[in-house]
Amino acid sequence: MFDYQPKTNELRDKVILVTGAGDGIGKVAAKTYASLGATVILLGRTTSKLETTYDEIIADQGPEPAIVPLDLKGATLSHYQQMNATIEQEFGHLDGLLHNASLLGHLRPFSQIPLDEWQEVMQVNVTAEFMMTQALLPTLQKAEKASIIFTSSGVGRKGRAHWGSYAVSKFATEGMMQVLADEFENSSMRFNCINPGATRTDMRASAYPGEDPKTLKTPEQIMPLYCYLMSDASAETTGQSLDAQPKR
Ligand code: NDP
Repeated sequence: MFDYQPKTNELRDKVILVTGAGDGIGKVAAKTYASLGATVILLGRTTSKLETTYDEIIADQGPEPAIVPLDLKGATLSHYQQMNATIEQEFGHLDGLLHNASLLGHLRPFSQIPLDEWQEVMQVNVTAEFMMTQALLPTLQKAEKASIIFTSSGVGRKGRAHWGSYAVSKFATEGMMQVLADEFENSSMRFNCINPGATRTDMRASAYPGEDPKTLKTPEQIMPLYCYLMSDASAETTGQSLDAQPKR
């Protein structure tokens, strides 16, 4: 799926929520989905960044997006339930959910991970995904074919020294996707993971400060898989963990 080419307006009439839509891969995914006709719901913690994404979508003549400023660190189940009620009221259904926002935390030996950092990474990367998915299931079930995409990582498939809480959170994300895919095997919803691979963003730069970013794929270059999994072309694909780019 590295070279999937969506048709013009392939996502027309779809309503898609993207977390972490103000920066990095999430921003480009939201803009890409809008360019294919989707109405996107932009969720993130920095309102000014979400507004920039909004403005760029409007400038590109995409459908008017919605903005949901929310810090996943502090959000509770009732925030997500309220969000579900608002989406149901505004749109009636939700066709796509891209769980993209994540925290890297600090890379350090396991023995030195502070408990509060561990808990923050788990809260944002795992518990928020659990609460949001659970709360949004009713509106996702109202869509004809809903696609729920989680974002994993190479270290979510094979552990690596010093990647502690982040790596463990990505294993949990893979597990959550598998549980959901199995539980809803005979439903209209599908659940998959994307491993973006090394991509030119702030998160990658903070993990590899000495690396030349120009050697990395841009978020735009890894969009084919993001489009494939969000479009009806992948309607039969569920329970998979797929790479967005070939191994380097
Ligand atoms: P960035 O750090 O560039 O962007 C992350 C986004 O998530 C930002 O918009 C950020 O908001 C948002 N976010 C972080 N914490 C919260 C929070 N508490 N509440 C709400 N939003 C939050 O990351 P990438 O684009 O690189 O990563 C996107 C996904 O891809 C992540 O899940 C990451 O783990 C995964 N990934 C990335 C790889 C890479 O090489 N880039 C490789 C493998 C996986 P704000 O801008 O306001 O801080």
